[in-house]
Amino acid sequence: MARDYTPKHAKVGAVGPVALRCKACTARFEATHPAATAVCPGCGEAWRIRWFTPDSGMIIAPLDWTDYQARARSRATGGSGQ
Ligand SMILES: [Zn+2]
Repeated sequence: MARDYTPKHAKVGAVGPVALRCKACTARFEATHPAATAVCPGCGEAWRIRWFTPDSGMIIAPLDWTDYQARARSRATGGSGQ
């Protein structure tokens, strides 16, 4: 019986999409390395992506802080939150 202990970093060469978690709605979506930004399909929020390596990226900030804060405020004070 052969076990597959292939580490996640074993995929060399082909850099596929990286899974990210939206900070606004916690939905998971994917971004591909060269992209500096990604839009969450769940809530439509646009995010800046930081890449440590081509296969390791994370969300660092909303693409547009003003727009993000305005939406966050509307979510908190009213609207259809919860
Ligand atoms: Zn989202």
